[in-house]
Amino acid sequence: MKVYKFGGSSLGTAARIMNVADIIDGALRHEKLVIVVSAIQRVTDLLLESASKAGSGDSGYRAILDEIEQMHFGIAGELFSGNGHEEVAASIRAELDELGDVIHGIYLLRELSDRSLALVSGFGERLSARLVSAFLSSKGLASSFVDARELIVTDANYADARVVSHATESRIAARLGSLQGVPVVTGFIASAPDGTSTTLGRGGSDYTASLLGAALGAAEIWIWTDVDGFFSADPKRVRDARILPFISYAEAMELSHAGAKVLHPLAVQPALKASIPLLIKNSFNPEAPGTRIAEPGGADRLVQHPVTGLTSINKIVLLNMSGSGMVGVPGIASRLFSCLARHRINIIFISQASSEQSITLAISPAQSTKAKKIMEEEFCREIASRQVDSIALRKNLALIAVVGNNMSGHPGVSAQLFETLGKNGINVVAVAQGANEMNISLVVDSHDEDKSLNCIHESFFLSQGKVHLFIAGTGNIARSLLRQIAAHRQNLRRENDLDVIVSGMANTRRMVIDDRGIDLDNWEEAMQERTGPAGIMGYIQLMKERNLHNTIFVDCTASSDVSEMYPALLCDNISVVTANKLGMAGPWPLYRQIRDAQRKSNARFLYETNVGAGLPIISTLNDLRNSGDKIISIEGVFSGTLSFIFNELRKGGSFSDIVRKAKDAGYTEPDPRDDLSGADFARKMLILGRELGFTLEYGDIECESLVPEDCRGEMPVAAFLEKLQSVDGRYAAEIETAAAEGMTIAYAGSICDGKASIGVKRVPLSSPIAGLNGSENIVVFTTERYRVTPLVVRGPGAGGEVTAGGVFADILRIASYLV
Ligand code: ASP
Ligand code: MG
Repeated sequence: MKVYKFGGSSLGTAARIMNVADIIDGALRHEKLVIVVSAIQRVTDLLLESASKAGSGDSGYRAILDEIEQMHFGIAGELFSGNGHEEVAASIRAELDELGDVIHGIYLLRELSDRSLALVSGFGERLSARLVSAFLSSKGLASSFVDARELIVTDANYADARVVSHATESRIAARLGSLQGVPVVTGFIASAPDGTSTTLGRGGSDYTASLLGAALGAAEIWIWTDVDGFFSADPKRVRDARILPFISYAEAMELSHAGAKVLHPLAVQPALKASIPLLIKNSFNPEAPGTRIAEPGGADRLVQHPVTGLTSINKIVLLNMSGSGMVGVPGIASRLFSCLARHRINIIFISQASSEQSITLAISPAQSTKAKKIMEEEFCREIASRQVDSIALRKNLALIAVVGNNMSGHPGVSAQLFETLGKNGINVVAVAQGANEMNISLVVDSHDEDKSLNCIHESFFLSQGKVHLFIAGTGNIARSLLRQIAAHRQNLRRENDLDVIVSGMANTRRMVIDDRGIDLDNWEEAMQERTGPAGIMGYIQLMKERNLHNTIFVDCTASSDVSEMYPALLCDNISVVTANKLGMAGPWPLYRQIRDAQRKSNARFLYETNVGAGLPIISTLNDLRNSGDKIISIEGVFSGTLSFIFNELRKGGSFSDIVRKAKDAGYTEPDPRDDLSGADFARKMLILGRELGFTLEYGDIECESLVPEDCRGEMPVAAFLEKLQSVDGRYAAEIETAAAEGMTIAYAGSICDGKASIGVKRVPLSSPIAGLNGSENIVVFTTERYRVTPLVVRGPGAGGEVTAGGVFADILRIASYLV
């Protein structure tokens, strides 16, 4: 025999009740059933509302009763075409008449006691059970309506009554044992020893089912609802939440306490005591296996993660009582909890540190003001004498519970939990973990609730790790980056268990944001003209409002407006990857701010592409320094254009011709003077100099411009190229004299003893710099360890593809830190 309990949404319309009847019909072919029903969806709420209206003298209660009446008669009309309709209509009418009388009485007396409220709120189950039982009979499945007030005995705490087990068990056995046909029992309602109606608390029909199952020794208790079972987290908050095929009784209790409304927490106990498995099933999807709740053991336990699931309570309030006068004084806690208990304040969470200086409680916001007052009254003497500081109340908080049988005795769970939250900049306001180690509860700001749930969920392998990229800039580098991500994303998912999601794209005018990830093949079409706050600043604002976990801001612009935002981003614990040099080569104060923010932040900041594009220059330099090597000098060529010009020059050919050729081949800026001035090259030297620890400004870099003095003013490009011929002779001569000494010339930079300079330099023909080809970049590190033969990194140092590749690599470095 099994107990089947159907929730309100499974009974919401005539069609759903027919579906329920089909489910029952199917099961009856091979087993006996006892059915328990909730009220039809929304009916309990409507009943409570009508009672409260009546109690305050508002005749609006009548309209609500009409709605309830229409609902039930409407469904009955659809369910029974002629056959049995009259009989059912009469039984519904009788219930509704009684309900009408009771509420009218409340209205006349303007008095709504807990006792009347319990009576009124139970009519929903009486109505639904009559409908279901009559409908089963009409389909030829013999059935009887059973009013649970005849079965379940409780104390007289009307709205939330406690069951008197012994009396209940014997009544159930006596009444249901001899019954003909399938019993359809009203959930939720019960009666006090004197016969007055009580209820088991909101959602209490699950409890009814479990009580019946335990008393009757059912094989299983099936709770039919509108979801496929217990989820590893609320799927509305965690998109990748998944169904848990199996959980233990203890886990079910933990998970149903905080937030997850799948099962009434009290329903677990009778089943547990009688060792009867509970099943959560979806009446809208009966084929789905659902969640099985039983004692762990054997093959039931498929997944062995330490954490089984997460739940949260969206709104809680913390009350904190602290004071030096509490230390070592026995009885404070007892008084605190007793005074709250006397006023029926439900405590969700407790935390007291071993210093005994303070006790923190979480309660629901609805009870917070009352609770604070009660505490202040109870401890008024201690407050007056300053033994207890005033009682502080903190709002807008959420409670997160991390639940799992396997957490116990599994070191590192809380370390991992707090680390994940820390990396995401989530502040933990309070913590509690019981010694059964099954539940770690944390209190965080409400704003961080979803973010916390998602990063915890991923961190404990309940779903794949994700990073959310917000890209700024839509130029060459950004385009290449998007192509590379699109091409490589599946691989990363498969091989690195990492999902790289591009959640935002923006330039100064247009943008698109999508938490689930922008379609990388159609991002341009998806970008919308900006409405809200303007510019990249507005985009950053929106990104912060999203407050997604594992967020990385990717700067592919060349704008100082954006680089000025880095310190603020890092302070908000948002990691940054940038191809934009204007931060690290910006004014010293900005540079300092970035460094300070980087030190304080839990987020990461990477800028490998600032020097030599995708070439590993910054990381190599840092590896050398971090491992204790001493840098003697750095030499290099960090301009593809200037590299090309001098490489050609060494082969013979005149300077001005080569510049022209480079321009025609697209190797230069539209005005080649922008390259020849050396400004961009100088910025890279500045970055390397700062990397070595020197306090340098842009002006400190000695920079030789290859633009002749008389060409620096306003002048068309063509005229400039013409005039450039005047220097051809100089370079030819310099190469010739150098050659006589086994040397040649190159436009190169060097840093030595804190001095950085760039310009035309003599280099030995044997130097790797003299051997460069095309537009290659090079860096030559001479260090204590690499003294005889320096360490050289050489390769293409510009271009969308290689730069984007470097940015991508930085992103993945941060991802492996975050995930
Ligand atoms: N009808 C009651 C409620 O809405 C009991 C239940 O659904 O389990 O709380
Ligand atoms: Mg329910």
